[in-house]
Amino acid sequence: MHPKDAIWQFYETLVGEDGKLVQYLTNKTNKCVWCIPCLDKYMALKHTAETTSIGCHEPGPSQARSKAVLRAEAKKPELATLATNWKEKALVLFTNGAPSGVVPICSKVDTMRSHSRRCPHTTDASYRREAQLCELLQPDGPALSTAS
Ligand SMILES: [Zn+2]
Repeated sequence: MHPKDAIWQFYETLVGEDGKLVQYLTNKTNKCVWCIPCLDKYMALKHTAETTSIGCHEPGPSQARSKAVLRAEAKKPELATLATNWKEKALVLFTNGAPSGVVPICSKVDTMRSHSRRCPHTTDASYRREAQLCELLQPDGPALSTAS
């Protein structure tokens, strides 16, 4: 295994029914990956929508679905067909005004970086810090001063 690029911490893969990671469309090398900040946004929207529709009744086990279920539901590999023509900055898909899934993208580092740069749900600070973009390195920063 190659060491994973830092960008991977912003993405989740999906294990299919065959126990293998779901491939990106017909691509034999790359996987479907989902932007974690976009998934979190989907979850927040979905959770709000569901708890609002339940109202002030005591939520029973069948009403309030677990976050794990919601998250699994958001990751639809078939939505990858939308990815190449996706124009929105966020990857959350809406159907009739309601969040209906999160579009996966291809697991190429450049593709993932490109989305994270544009993603409105990835905070600049967290992305820049974790992706260790070199423009953030200060000339007198600790990373450089230790080399002298
Ligand atoms: Zn995103």
